[in-house]
Amino acid sequence: MTAECSVCFRKCRIGEGKTGFCGARGCIGSRIVPLNYGKITALALDPVEKKPLRKFFPGSKILSVGSFGCNLRCPFCQNSDISWSEHIEEYKNTARTATPEQLVNLALSCRDEGNIGIAFTYNEPLIGYEFVRDTSLLLHKNGLKSVMVTNGTASAEILGELSHCVDAMNIDLKGFSENYCNRVLGGNLSMVREFIAESVKHCHVELTTLIVPGENDRDEEIKRMAEWIASLRDSGGNEIGMNIPLHITRFFPRFHMTDRNATDIDLIYRLADLCREYLNFVYTGNC
Ligand code: SF4
Repeated sequence: MTAECSVCFRKCRIGEGKTGFCGARGCIGSRIVPLNYGKITALALDPVEKKPLRKFFPGSKILSVGSFGCNLRCPFCQNSDISWSEHIEEYKNTARTATPEQLVNLALSCRDEGNIGIAFTYNEPLIGYEFVRDTSLLLHKNGLKSVMVTNGTASAEILGELSHCVDAMNIDLKGFSENYCNRVLGGNLSMVREFIAESVKHCHVELTTLIVPGENDRDEEIKRMAEWIASLRDSGGNEIGMNIPLHITRFFPRFHMTDRNATDIDLIYRLADLCREYLNFVYTGNC
């Protein structure tokens, strides 16, 4: 027996006892289940600016939680050990386990240190959306905030599961060409665009674009991207796009992409200036 996962564009058909492409969802009893539910691989109390979020409770901290698995294959991944290395299968057995209640209690215990809630980050949280949803609902009951740092590569139905209980997202808009986003990164640009366009109607959204030399660093591509962001509207049809914060960040060679240098800092500043022709809040990162 197989079952189909509908979380992302890959629509994996998964055999009984097997795991989908992302390594985080499997088929048990003819049903798709999140194998990484409550499996914690990383935990840190970080400044909210590190997510990065610049206009969501600036100066505060957020308990940042990671699990394992990813539905993309970015060759420069910074968290490859928990996202898509050959070792991630092992985390099913070796990762420590926490219930939503335990994590929320930990978040509450950090309030004196400036903690405002929990950020689901480090690996891709959408592929384990059930844990994000259950924990976020509990965070709200306790007066805390829920944040997701995500590649935005999931269906509208999954966003619908989360949009009422997630307060802020930083979404990667990794580029604006299908060749780069789909072929090089193994993603799906149109799914990400739809996810972003819908998310801005429900919660605070900031976007991040990592500039990779020779891949997504052309003026024309970045300009089209900024123009598109500026055109986004809220649920009432009001133009809000120009006020969506955009983080333009610098690439460093790592993991499977070591064939080029780090992004030139002057290029980051120049592309950020280009985006400022359309957007009011553009930040540079890793410079
Ligand atoms: S979330 Fe994972 S299992 Fe589901 S379709 Fe995407 S890659 Fe496949």
